[in-house]
Amino acid sequence: MRIKKNDNVLIIKGKDKGRQGEVQSVLVSKNKVVIEGINLVKQHRKAQGMSGAEIVEKELPIPVANVMLICSACQKPTRVSSDKIGDGSRVRICKNCQEVIE
Ligand SMILES: [Zn+2]
Repeated sequence: MRIKKNDNVLIIKGKDKGRQGEVQSVLVSKNKVVIEGINLVKQHRKAQGMSGAEIVEKELPIPVANVMLICSACQKPTRVSSDKIGDGSRVRICKNCQEVIE
């Protein structure tokens, strides 16, 4: 998966197209991501005890194909390539500015 938790991403498809948000969680097996404030749905929560019913908003996962990573160095939406560094671990490289994306 090229997207990680806490990445900033741009939405490129769907009703939230053009918006940006921070990745809250990644559902690797489903190829989906949950992004703060994106794809909100209203959920009615039943009254509990003394408190009345309330409506809460919740983010639903969206396909990872609908988002584009925003580079932490150049702040632009970009495609990434991966590269191995000295200790053998993989890093993501911005194809725009060639910087390593944290
Ligand atoms: Zn960049």
